[in-house]
Amino acid sequence: MTTTYAVSRGASADRPGALALAFDLDGPTGDAMLSGELWERPGYFCLGAYGPHRAVPRILDILRNSGVQATFFTPSWVVEHWPDLCRRIVDQGHEMANHGHRHEVFFEMSESEQLAVLDQAQAIFRRELGLEAAGFRAPSGDWHPRTAQLLAESGFRYSSSLRSGDQPFRHDGHSLIEIPAKSLFDDYTAFAYHRAPNFPSGLDRVAAYRPAFETWWEEIDAAADAGLTVTTIWHPKVIGTPGRALLLEELVDRVSRDPRIRVGTCADAVGLWAEGNNE
Ligand SMILES: [Zn+2]
Repeated sequence: MTTTYAVSRGASADRPGALALAFDLDGPTGDAMLSGELWERPGYFCLGAYGPHRAVPRILDILRNSGVQATFFTPSWVVEHWPDLCRRIVDQGHEMANHGHRHEVFFEMSESEQLAVLDQAQAIFRRELGLEAAGFRAPSGDWHPRTAQLLAESGFRYSSSLRSGDQPFRHDGHSLIEIPAKSLFDDYTAFAYHRAPNFPSGLDRVAAYRPAFETWWEEIDAAADAGLTVTTIWHPKVIGTPGRALLLEELVDRVSRDPRIRVGTCADAVGLWAEGNNE
């Protein structure tokens, strides 16, 4: 019996696999900031601030030691409040990309509201970092039916917002390229935990660290065999604790030495895909 299933262990791909290393540097932005509740909840603020305060320097050291670059999808509120850290990210060769201003919920916003946030974030990137973002990731994991068109019209080259597919693809009718992510590569699914407000509801989960990293490796390994593209949804405040950072270091070191995998930023993965498709 023959099979056309392409992702079988040992299959040899005619193109390299790609791992776009991506961190969502949300800091304390998000729903509680949008509602104003955050300013009455110091503990909740500190949970988010742990990312830029403590975890990002640790992650930057790991990336530098492995000689790989990553993308940091960063709300511009974080850029405004941690400008030196964000400049350090840029100075070390990483990509800063648009993730709204205060982690707005794009699927609830009008077109003009979305454009205003995109423009505000780009203006802050220009002012604080001297650059405009080429990429965008929708905060909160979804977007408005018109968001892709608005991004293309605003000059963005790529998005990493949707969950479909194992390879980048071009959105219908315009120039925007999508690098689909998968929720299993979101570190919230294994590790996020907070009380009051409770996350997850029921407070019944923090996965054992090593099996969670091995799960990610199994997916990366199979994608590499098949010449596919993987990207991550890692939040420094979640994945950057001392113990998890050690395992992150092990994983990054492993993939950076793997000849089947091109490791880099989301922009690098878009470039690799475009090159392979003669675009
Ligand atoms: Zn986010």
